[in-house]
Amino acid sequence: MRWWGWGEDGHDVALPPAAETLLGDELGADSAARRPPVGLEEVSLPDSRLPAPARERLVAAVGAEHVRDGREDRIGHAVGRSYPDLVRIRSGDASSAPDAVVRPDSAEQVAAVLAACAEHRVAVIPFGGGTSVVGGVEPVRDGMDAAVTLDLGRLSSTVEVDRTSLTARLDAGLFGPEAEQRLAAEGVTLGHFPQSFEYSTVGGWVATRSAGQASTGYGRIDELVEAVRCITPAGEIGTRAVPASAAGPSTRELLVGSEGVLGVICEATVRVRPAPAFRRYEGWSFASFAEGCDAFRVMEQAEASADVNRLSDEAETGLSTAMASSSGIRAEGLGRRYLRLRGHERGCIAILGFEGEEEDVERRRRQTAGLLRAGGGIALGPRPGEAWLHSRYSGPYMRDELLTRRVFVDTLETATSWTNLGTLHAAVAEALRTTLGERGTPALVMCHVSHLYPSGASLYFTFLARQEDDAMAQWSAAKTAASEAIVAGGGTITHHHAIGRDHRQWMRAEVGELGIELIRAMKERLDPAGIMNPGKLLP
Ligand SMILES: Cc1cc2nc3c(=O)[nH]c(=O)nc-3n(C[C@H](O)[C@H](O)[C@H](O)COP(=O)(O)OP(=O)(O)OC[C@H]3O[C@@H](n4cnc5c(N)ncnc54)[C@H](O)[C@@H]3O)c2cc1C
Repeated sequence: MRWWGWGEDGHDVALPPAAETLLGDELGADSAARRPPVGLEEVSLPDSRLPAPARERLVAAVGAEHVRDGREDRIGHAVGRSYPDLVRIRSGDASSAPDAVVRPDSAEQVAAVLAACAEHRVAVIPFGGGTSVVGGVEPVRDGMDAAVTLDLGRLSSTVEVDRTSLTARLDAGLFGPEAEQRLAAEGVTLGHFPQSFEYSTVGGWVATRSAGQASTGYGRIDELVEAVRCITPAGEIGTRAVPASAAGPSTRELLVGSEGVLGVICEATVRVRPAPAFRRYEGWSFASFAEGCDAFRVMEQAEASADVNRLSDEAETGLSTAMASSSGIRAEGLGRRYLRLRGHERGCIAILGFEGEEEDVERRRRQTAGLLRAGGGIALGPRPGEAWLHSRYSGPYMRDELLTRRVFVDTLETATSWTNLGTLHAAVAEALRTTLGERGTPALVMCHVSHLYPSGASLYFTFLARQEDDAMAQWSAAKTAASEAIVAGGGTITHHHAIGRDHRQWMRAEVGELGIELIRAMKERLDPAGIMNPGKLLP
């Protein structure tokens, strides 16, 4: 991935004309304003402070060519992929860069690296794909003498499928596409497709309790992981690959979501399914977000949800309709007039995706369609669904272009009960609009529901505003206002992005003082020198 953004060089996308108009009309963005990333040679990078004896030990552990302290390696591991990360790195600020990047290729090498770092007081930051949007991979020294990033990309050889039990042992450093390709060769799928799929890894998913776009159907990663192998500074913890166990509190659960602060997840045994032979993605329209949410609740509680279920609110529907009107996201066979007559002129679009055997998909679709129709939904046919499927990974490429045009664009997410969903949706949107409006940068705030549970659902907000000169102050004000609204409104501070650095201050509200002490006690036992990913997860 290029050091200042998403994807590789040459993957740039142009803004559709509708988006250009919207940026000017709604956000007051200056169409001529540009702030491109600085050149690599202009990035300011502090000298490496890795002590020579520590470096020698690391070289002994992984080999000289895998202890890298060159400019490009260090800059490429200085930040993750959140909005504030990108603002800083694009401006040439790599002050957070690690002193070196270390690339082990086995659990044994990981153990040797941790031993060396504990002895020499060097912080270790586990790094999968570096797509964290909560500051999870930013090197923080927190009193250590130096910091190294442990890039796990070479831990990527094992994909061992048990077709009978439908499980697979996967190395942590496998990226999404390679993992799925190798599973597909054995006729199975994990079904875990976060929007960051192309550049995130198995270990990163497990360490952050990630949720893929099809989590309602396939399950979140925490439901898909059967066992993990974790190397901590105090030794190895392997949890058993069994379907269920009553052997006390689950150590697997303690490691899933541990965000690199306890140890390094080197492999995971995951539950897989036969690869789907058939896919059907389609669109639905609802008169309002509230009506759509209620229809989704009834569908989910009847165990009739699709595998992918997304419902955009009015603002997100408006934007996606405007952006896509030229590329085919339109009601198929249903004119705008018909939708207007049915009271859907400012309606909300939903995408449903079914995967599996054709017969089974058709049977499920019929049941789901009956419930959605009874809830006020109008079927729009497959085109909106196919268009969504086709562009499911394209959003982050657009973000780079928006940043160049000095647009503040960020996302945040939460989850709450069905009873509270509408209230929380309104409260977070209002907090963002008011905070940014008062700064003189009116915001476009949009949201969708995309992960369903019998008791509630997630809310995923995207917001855009004109970028202030002090982009970090603007981001911090918006982030704080939205997070306070989430906590006060009864939502979780994160449904799937994790805690990292950016949500730490709200962790106490999430798990309570005793909960913090419990996690801290575990850390002290597993990581007595405090080298593992300092400054993350715990306040
Ligand atoms: C554009 C975009 C879209 C996204 N979409 C989604 C989405 O749909 N769903 C979702 O859940 N998230 C999403 N994310 C967030 C991010 O992709 C996930 O958190 C993902 O799981 C991170 O994987 P990674 O391999 O990039 O991990 P990294 O970013 O490298 O690391 C994340 C955290 O895990 C730790 N870590 C990584 N690997 C290991 C390991 N092997 N052992 C121990 N600790 C480790 C790191 O230290 C860090 O704290 C998105 C991010 C972006 C930028």
